[in-house]
Amino acid sequence: MAEGTITNRGFALLKKPPLTTPAAEEVYYEAGGTQFHVHVCTTPDGKTHNWKCNSPYCASLIGSCPDHGGEEPIHVGREPWKR
Ligand SMILES: [Zn+2]
Ligand SMILES: [Zn+2]
Repeated sequence: MAEGTITNRGFALLKKPPLTTPAAEEVYYEAGGTQFHVHVCTTPDGKTHNWKCNSPYCASLIGSCPDHGGEEPIHVGREPWKR
């Protein structure tokens, strides 16, 4: 019987730090709200990526992010209908 030897694969998994999200990978839009939700952006070359935003005014979660030509989410405190 193998005496509890850890496999290379197991070792690699153990070494991986839990839940580390590189800040650069996280695309999000700060709109002054509190709750983040996730939008799905389709880029011009047909790929999709998620981006988070915390605007309370988003009507649809499927749409390009501001980096890919989409509308910027409405900022809390800068609502166009509250001029
Ligand atoms: Zn949003
Ligand atoms: Zn995008």
